[in-house]
Amino acid sequence: MQTIRFYNTATRSVEPIVPHEPGRITMYTCGPTVYHYAHIGNLRTYIMEDVLEKLFVLAGYEVKRGMNITDVGHLTSDADTGEDKMLAGAKREGKTAMEIARFYTEAFFADCEKLNIKKPETVVPATSCIDEFIKLIGVLFEKGYAYMAGGNVYFDTSKVEDYYRLTGHSADDLMVGVRDDVTEDTNKRNKTDFVLWFTESKFGEQELRWDSPWGYGYPGWHIECSAISLKYLGEYLDIHAGGVDNIFPHHTNEIAQSEAAIGHEWCRYWFHPRHLNDKSGKMSKSKGGILTVSVLEENGYKPLAYRYFCLQSHYMKQLVFSYESLDNAASAYDKLLARVANLKAQAEKEGAEPDLEKVDEYKERFIETVGNDLNTSLGLTLLYEVIKSEETAATKLAAIAEFDNVLSLDLMKAEPEAEEAPAEDLSHLEELLVKRAEAKKAKDWATADAIRDEVKAAGYMIVDTPEGAKLKKL
Ligand code: AMP
Ligand code: ZN
Repeated sequence: MQTIRFYNTATRSVEPIVPHEPGRITMYTCGPTVYHYAHIGNLRTYIMEDVLEKLFVLAGYEVKRGMNITDVGHLTSDADTGEDKMLAGAKREGKTAMEIARFYTEAFFADCEKLNIKKPETVVPATSCIDEFIKLIGVLFEKGYAYMAGGNVYFDTSKVEDYYRLTGHSADDLMVGVRDDVTEDTNKRNKTDFVLWFTESKFGEQELRWDSPWGYGYPGWHIECSAISLKYLGEYLDIHAGGVDNIFPHHTNEIAQSEAAIGHEWCRYWFHPRHLNDKSGKMSKSKGGILTVSVLEENGYKPLAYRYFCLQSHYMKQLVFSYESLDNAASAYDKLLARVANLKAQAEKEGAEPDLEKVDEYKERFIETVGNDLNTSLGLTLLYEVIKSEETAATKLAAIAEFDNVLSLDLMKAEPEAEEAPAEDLSHLEELLVKRAEAKKAKDWATADAIRDEVKAAGYMIVDTPEGAKLKKL
């Protein structure tokens, strides 16, 4: 079995992943907070986690993967402050919190499907596990890590040795500037203590509340991931994944409470893809005007062109989104599909069988290449190398099919008749774009609209992007 490496936040180095049980990986992923559509930044994280899971599977590991759905109790801050995201979503749309959760959970998985992100075999909404949270909080009380203050239950972080170990920073580094929204909660013994169970929340109108030994209330955010992961994946978790913003405090708190409860190391490898930003900074659901898969589709892009865009860069680098770079990825992706389609036609003509030894060699090289800190862009380079090689079309296709188990770009669905079209002469339409820009400047909306219709009649749509108007084939 080939070794897979990635950057482990816990040790701050690229490490070979050695599972607790040989050949068997347990992997936990922090799921979405379902109060809004996922933006394409969130989905970058899920795409990279999907690639990681599929790479292990291609290399012959058995992967058991779990994910939560945050459908209750996610406050924007860890003190009893900030707004409750689910409640805010429900208010915004005039629905109940459960309706909001159901709607956006479905929307999330519909987006995942479009991006060929496999649904983990175990997906657990937080609201279905309240008993587990209560049990875990009970254990934390028994072991002396939990206390009550002002009606809420808190975790005492001072009882934990090396509370900050995942972050690689000192307490002072983290508390200054990193989270401006952490306001002093006078109930806490230490400023990093966090709520395990709310009863005396300022959110009296919280819809979803349950009975507990500490009063009628609802769980804090962090407890759900520890409880769900421990229940479904056991006490020895191999990989825990989530966006980089989760390192502190979310994953730091997960480690504190999980290890306090089980009494030994919980998870060895922490996978944290970096963020996708737009030009104005980090994308966030709460900012509004978010970029979603639907927005990309409305603008004429195939969702998988976005997956290709993500695969082109390294997960440990922040990625800046622009329509210009998405255009480049989309056209490279279309060309790739056309090339694979040509290969299919060629293979049919040749009628040869693939050279399976060669295919295995390529597969091994692919796992080695991508398995070296999840280098998806070098994986794509290897794919082009195969296409350009001297192998038969059948061998190339069989190797590409192996790669696509991980890349998941639907390459084998490329249709032979979709041969690369000769580049169209678009200069006439480009001239119309210039005229339209002039018309818009002069606020001559009738002309601008007429031009849009003319361009549409020629089979193109005009997409307005921050970099100017662009043509998209309809
Ligand atoms: P949320 O639904 O807010 O809990 O986030 C879902 C996942 O997306 C988490 O793993 C976050 O860490 C991750 N995430 C949030 N913002 C971004 C971003 N701008 N780029 C990439 N991942 C993100
Ligand atoms: Zn989590």
